[in-house]
Amino acid sequence: MSSMSEKVLIAGGGIAGLACGIALAQAHASVQILERAPALMEVGAGVQLGPNVTRILNAWGVLAVIEKVASYPSSLRARSVKSGEVLATLPLADMTMRYGSPYITIHRADLQHALLEKVQALGVNVQCNSPVHQLPMDLHKTADALVIADGVWSNLRQQLLNDGPPRMTGHLAYRALVRQADLPEYLRTQDVSVWMGPKLHVVQYPVRGGDWLNVVCLTEGQLRGVTLQELQDWNLSKTPQDTRTDLQAALTGACAHLQALVEACSNWRLWPLCDRPPMQSAAQHARGCVALVGDAAHPMRPYLAQGAGMAIEDAADLARHWTTLGNQDVSQRFTAFAQARWQRNARVQARAICNGEIFHATGAMRWARDMGLRTAGKRLMDIPWLYG
Ligand SMILES: Cc1cc2nc3c(=O)[nH]c(=O)nc-3n(C[C@H](O)[C@H](O)[C@H](O)COP(=O)(O)OP(=O)(O)OC[C@H]3O[C@@H](n4cnc5c(N)ncnc54)[C@H](O)[C@@H]3O)c2cc1C
Repeated sequence: MSSMSEKVLIAGGGIAGLACGIALAQAHASVQILERAPALMEVGAGVQLGPNVTRILNAWGVLAVIEKVASYPSSLRARSVKSGEVLATLPLADMTMRYGSPYITIHRADLQHALLEKVQALGVNVQCNSPVHQLPMDLHKTADALVIADGVWSNLRQQLLNDGPPRMTGHLAYRALVRQADLPEYLRTQDVSVWMGPKLHVVQYPVRGGDWLNVVCLTEGQLRGVTLQELQDWNLSKTPQDTRTDLQAALTGACAHLQALVEACSNWRLWPLCDRPPMQSAAQHARGCVALVGDAAHPMRPYLAQGAGMAIEDAADLARHWTTLGNQDVSQRFTAFAQARWQRNARVQARAICNGEIFHATGAMRWARDMGLRTAGKRLMDIPWLYG
């Protein structure tokens, strides 16, 4: 069996790095997390976590901690951007009955905070201000394994796989958070809604125990004159007011409800979305004693709301192989992990791309989508292979 003496270095203390820290520490590895930032800060806004993810958080003892700050939306509604019509509704309240675990929405800072507390309680050393610039040539001198969890712009992935930078998707994400108490009654909601329109969609859901509303508008377009650094910053240096004006222009023709929602949010932030094509082989997940997890391994479009989810699944799967193959060497454990894992990540990445095309459909495809949702929406929106 693997023993306490086996040391794992994790590069990156985002959701993937912290999740791996928890899972591997619980599998009795001695873990150190090296994080580039001076402090672990909240990036982004809200995340949705399906039952496939909350099941793992529950097993780690993290779900009980986030219970108070998470929201438990009762349904997922597909709506038309133009008319506001509710095209279909998927009940979420019975996810626990159907899949054994709830569907939650949560502020990213609340999730990150709970993961950090857990990992530290397990004795993992989280060292901020510690960028890992180079793949260690003599890894065996300092550790038994390295887990690369440094996100979509992973420098270490480049050194390991040499497969170029992520690609621009041509999609832009506008995000805002607003206190529900500051909204007129009719704009407040405890549901998840996905509003679909030509070449854009809007997602809204409650966070912070339902007190805040997270709103994300996704449009198609390129930004000119953006530096690589700005791309990596999760927030372009535009004022929230300019950003809202751009967004209002993109939403011309949207229903009054959406226009009012965009107007009511004042802190719009924008960044272009980048991803990679779906994974093509196990070799993209691990080589020797080095494993890649989270966005460093499989950055995806957020249209299935599973990027953080797959990072958490990576961590659970890595630890499972660490334990069950504890009598084999680390590279064999990592190879088995990679072989078991890459196809699911590839499938989720592909489905996210496909969702984007469906959400943004125009013409006949849009008509067929709306008809399908009206007649069989509940079945189409449920995803047993993912949640089960
Ligand atoms: C608009 C939008 C909405 C989303 N919604 C959802 C959702 O609803 N549900 C969901 O599951 N996912 C969602 N995601 C995806 C999710 O945010 C990501 O998949 C997830 O945050 C990836 O986590 P990570 O730890 O792999 O990467 P990151 O969060 O990027 O963390 C990487 C960490 O590594 C550090 N780092 C970088 N370089 C180095 C280095 N050289 N050395 C040491 N440390 C380094 C960074 O500082 C950072 O802390 C969404 C994404 C977007 C853009």
